[in-house]
Amino acid sequence: GVDALFFNHDYEPAAIARDASVSHALQQAGRAVFSFKDQVIYEKNQILTQSGTPFSVFTPYKNAWLKRLQQEGLHHHACQAKPGQWLQIEGEIVPTLPELGFEAIDIAYLHPGMQGAQTLWQNFQQRLSEYGERRDFPARKGPSYLSVHLRFGTISIRQLVLHAWQHGSEGSSSVWLSELIWREFYAMILFTHPHVAERAFKPAYDAIQWESGALAQSRFEAWCQGQTGYPLVDAAMLQLNRTGYMHNRLRMVTASFLIKDCGIDWRWGEAYFATHLNDFDLAANNGGWQWCASSGCDAQPYFRIFNPITQSQKFDEQGEFIVRYLPQLAALAPKYRHAPWLAPVSELARAKLLLGQDYPLPILQHDVARQATLARYAVVKADDQSGRNIALAL
Ligand code: FAD
Repeated sequence: GVDALFFNHDYEPAAIARDASVSHALQQAGRAVFSFKDQVIYEKNQILTQSGTPFSVFTPYKNAWLKRLQQEGLHHHACQAKPGQWLQIEGEIVPTLPELGFEAIDIAYLHPGMQGAQTLWQNFQQRLSEYGERRDFPARKGPSYLSVHLRFGTISIRQLVLHAWQHGSEGSSSVWLSELIWREFYAMILFTHPHVAERAFKPAYDAIQWESGALAQSRFEAWCQGQTGYPLVDAAMLQLNRTGYMHNRLRMVTASFLIKDCGIDWRWGEAYFATHLNDFDLAANNGGWQWCASSGCDAQPYFRIFNPITQSQKFDEQGEFIVRYLPQLAALAPKYRHAPWLAPVSELARAKLLLGQDYPLPILQHDVARQATLARYAVVKADDQSGRNIALAL
């Protein structure tokens, strides 16, 4: 009895194939099909270079995106769910969540639904002016925590962009708006270059030989379980495993550690994040992993390798985030929380910390791993020479 199907665009390769197949079948059966843009401001090929090709560098894409917004303006169409107006399906059996393969978990902290999204949004508006200064420090309440709502469509991207845009072209609002534009940039990359879902954006990077066998398996297992011996990496993985969320700075640190310290194929980490992040979004997750692997568009140059200890000293100076997830390190003086194996024996004894038992010894040495990574990435050296020249010029 259905006359027409209305749905919103999805930019993931499998979803595009699904939507095409369903649309085709319904059209064949004489039903009308209408689809709309909803989850982004500018989709598909709406923002192109002057020569009509997709952008592969973020800043000019962002400038073109903002220029178009300036020209066209933006409206937020408030909506309210009115249950009485929904189609009542009588006699139909709606499958339960367990029947769909979901497990019941405690999600009280998530603020679910449109109402939950608005609660988070109102809270974030009061903190927006401090976003630029706070966003990189995982122990602080810096970001919006709205990613899960953007991913599930329980908040409108137009509402968020309009607010950020109206609150200044400089300062924290514009920093936050840039993040919302990164989201669209990666959606555009996935749509225009669907091969990224399986392979490197830059084909030369597919030649990299990653670690394999028992060593790779044991390092990967340690990374997944938060047992690498590098506290910031481990605390971040425990945050992911326990809450389904990980702070952006920590996503970069853990991804870099897996790829450039453990030498493991970025796709392993991408898949692990995909199953554990509540905000999992193929485009943003793939873009983030390929950024860290240096194989993505506008990615970190391959010779830039995060040092997990200095990242920890810089972004969690007092080790406050670390001890939230690794309370066994709380008795250590803050300066030793970043690399407990470097603490003097007397400090370990004072803190009653037995390394190897209460907390693991490091599974690898960063300096040694760094050299191995530079050798591993030698196959892409020519490809990244332009990136290196830019980096040296800066
Ligand atoms: P805020 O800082 O408040 O940012 C607001 C919104 O902007 C976010 O909700 C998100 O929609 C968007 N955004 C912010 N940073 C990015 C970015 N770098 N790329 C694309 N969009 C961004 N984000 C996801 O939504 N889903 C993912 O699966 C995902 N996987 C990632 C994997 C890696 C390895 C990395 C480095 C980043 C990933 N990100 C992902 C991007 C970013 O880490 C999260 O969007 C952010 O941490 C979500 O928290 P927030 O909503 O509090 O962010």
